[in-house]
Amino acid sequence: MTDHAVVARLKSELDGLKIEDNPALVKQKSRDFYWYSPVLKRQLDDVTADLVVTPRNEEEVVRILKACFALEVPVTPRGSGTGNYGQAMPLAGGVVLNLAEMNRVKSIGPGRMLAEAGAVLARIDRETRAHSGQELRLHPSTHATASIGGFIAGGSGGIGSINWGGLRNFGNVLSLRVLTMEKEPRVLEMRGLDLMKVMHAYGTNGIITEVEMPLDAAYDWVDVMIGFDDWMKTVRFCNLIANQDGLLFKEIAAVAAPVPYDYFLRHRKFLRREHSVGLLMVAPHAVDPFLALAAQEKAEILFRSDTATDEEKRGLPPIFELTWNHTTLRALRVDPTVTYLQVLYPFPTHVESVGRMSRIFGDEVPGHLEFQRFDGNICCSGLPIVRFTTEERLDEIVKIHEDNGCPIFNPHRYTLEEGGMKRTDEVQLAFKREADPKGLLNPGKMIAWENPDFDLTSSRTYLFPGLQRAAG
Ligand code: FAD
Repeated sequence: MTDHAVVARLKSELDGLKIEDNPALVKQKSRDFYWYSPVLKRQLDDVTADLVVTPRNEEEVVRILKACFALEVPVTPRGSGTGNYGQAMPLAGGVVLNLAEMNRVKSIGPGRMLAEAGAVLARIDRETRAHSGQELRLHPSTHATASIGGFIAGGSGGIGSINWGGLRNFGNVLSLRVLTMEKEPRVLEMRGLDLMKVMHAYGTNGIITEVEMPLDAAYDWVDVMIGFDDWMKTVRFCNLIANQDGLLFKEIAAVAAPVPYDYFLRHRKFLRREHSVGLLMVAPHAVDPFLALAAQEKAEILFRSDTATDEEKRGLPPIFELTWNHTTLRALRVDPTVTYLQVLYPFPTHVESVGRMSRIFGDEVPGHLEFQRFDGNICCSGLPIVRFTTEERLDEIVKIHEDNGCPIFNPHRYTLEEGGMKRTDEVQLAFKREADPKGLLNPGKMIAWENPDFDLTSSRTYLFPGLQRAAG
């Protein structure tokens, strides 16, 4: 926590801005979906900021950064707080910079739009659809709540990745406006290779205030759920449709039995417990040819939003809210003891790897795959449910995956390195030296900055020393 006198000074410096200091409300805005992980829940439960400051425009952000720089108060940016690795949690206390009120869509043109960082994805899509029948290429399954700035700083891909790959692929973000954390914050316009400096950096080296993104043609996507009584048949079918050159999908996920029946409660009426399912968003013009292929492969059509009655559709979430991290959320709502992992099954042996992992773990780790384009090839990554017993067993499950050539992006770690490729991102580190020389932005999330000697190849977990101080 920051010293009381410093907090009082900061409040007077920021007089006239929207400041929250009620401890219960500050704590609420100091959390994200970290509790997805039993490990992060244990480590981060007590984390809280001293203040939440909500700027309404870029000038106010500059004022906040200047004052915090002078007083050496940490600043952790926040969009909507839907990240699930504790990314938006202020490990060293200080200020949560809540960008939710910087939410305007500023301009829309053919194939692109410009918005303030706090704009919620669903709102952007509503405006671009109404303007010119366009929509964002990619969005996380938290479309209804997540901000565009938070997606770029904390997310990776999602619905649409089957066509467009991940956020960090060239072309999926066009430009960013970024503020530095210096005595006199600078405004930088970033494009091209520069974007890599701040994308997926958890706001550790700059505050994004505006985002320019490419748009795609919007369709009235048809939600379809198919099923087989066999997990690997479901996987092979999803792989087959994902590789069809003439069919257009926005989402293809596969989820193993009994997860759909046990946890997709509102869709249970369409399911048997033996059903492993494919969760699809199909372009309207692709439905007929898709159905022909499904019939040929003997896939059972369990649900179609284009022919379902109003009564059948009542209360159902869109199908994409059963995919990506929503699968885990729905499982956690029924059984709070489960957790999950993030697995890459490398191309071209992804289907075999999935088969091998499900033979090894069976129902301890029921499968969940997200098909996507990865370096031009269709492959899949996994967000399998894990029936959690102990942290030791979780580590063992991670190791068995890695020993079998399936890298894990560990969602039970709050640092960039441990949750990612387990190596230093030199570009992001170099930019942090330049843009945040006092290390005040989102402290504790970049190991390379906090402890350059930490051995990322060891099996030790990094513990940010400031975390104990903040919690104490
Ligand atoms: P926050 O959680 O508020 O912030 C995320 C990170 O970005 C934090 O480190 C924060 O400090 C930083 N940040 C926020 N705004 C800024 C800014 N303006 N400038 C600099 N740094 C900033 N993720 C996916 O990629 N794909 C998915 O499909 C997906 N599905 C999800 C489903 C569920 C149910 C949940 C709980 C999470 C899911 N996520 C997914 C994770 C998360 O929802 C997304 O990454 C989301 O886009 C984060 O947006 P946010 O506004 O909530 O960001």
